[in-house]
Amino acid sequence: MRLEAAKKHFNLLIQHKRLAHAYLFTGELGQAKKKLVETIIQALVCKHFDAEGRACLNCMDCQRITRGQFADHMAIEPDGRSIKVDQIRGLKEWLGTSPIEADFKIATIEQADLMGPAAANALLLFLEEPSPNVYIFLFSRQAEQLLPTIQSRVQEVILEDDKADSQMDQMLQAGIRDQHARVMLKLSVNRLKNLMDDYEAESFEDWLKALEYFYQLLMQKDPYAFVAIQQHLKSYLNFNQGQDGLDYLNWLNAQLLLSHYPSKENYLGSLQKRVNMIKERINHQVSHTSYHRMNQLLMDSKKLLMSNVTSQLAYEHLAIKMCEWK
Ligand SMILES: [Zn+2]
Repeated sequence: MRLEAAKKHFNLLIQHKRLAHAYLFTGELGQAKKKLVETIIQALVCKHFDAEGRACLNCMDCQRITRGQFADHMAIEPDGRSIKVDQIRGLKEWLGTSPIEADFKIATIEQADLMGPAAANALLLFLEEPSPNVYIFLFSRQAEQLLPTIQSRVQEVILEDDKADSQMDQMLQAGIRDQHARVMLKLSVNRLKNLMDDYEAESFEDWLKALEYFYQLLMQKDPYAFVAIQQHLKSYLNFNQGQDGLDYLNWLNAQLLLSHYPSKENYLGSLQKRVNMIKERINHQVSHTSYHRMNQLLMDSKKLLMSNVTSQLAYEHLAIKMCEWK
């Protein structure tokens, strides 16, 4: 959604008293996320809203909010390289006290993907039983960077700029298949140029198929997964492609988990077909905990890769850990 469309959407939600308790704003636009929260607070507070629920922006309340002087909003940012569990505990304490100037409280968590497991779990307990009149907004570049358990309890709003469309157009014009272009846009932004430069349709497709086959074996805890690394993935295990592969598996895993929550409508375009096909193959054999386990192991493997372990070993670690898990 573009920022203006998102503002309109939230104004109407608030007007009809349908604002949910937790949202996740994703996309590249940091300032747009803040602007959207400001609009939401104004729509909740302003008494001079118009027929579409838009705040007047002129009254004392609106102006104070624009200046960032609204007392019932707390913003959490990473303390150093992560968001600490104490910050989340502090936030929960603050949310438990009465609001000062409004009849609700709002919290925003910036770079929510930097929450460590302890912080994420502390927040999770809160998301599971949200207090009335408390609204939480998480910011992250991509939903997949958050724990699936958190993803499943928030509504995602993807904030896009015109750049994403033009990138997609550019890729299609360069002869990249629609599905492949969408996959590339899910992988690291820094890698996009290299992926486009190295692109060759057949081999890209073979790589995705090999990863999907590997994923399927892992979810079935089939020890053949270990052999499949040698037989099907070996030529895609340089450092960058190894990492891209883990990112793709992570994305795929998150989509499959989320597809079990009917309220989550994630627009996947032409990738929906791919996801559905894998879902059909594994669906009746796996439990929700398998997705969570997979998510954890994928993060572990990525950490291994970052600490200079070879891609092959990182993938083997994944296969062993998944297959031995009861
Ligand atoms: Zn106003």
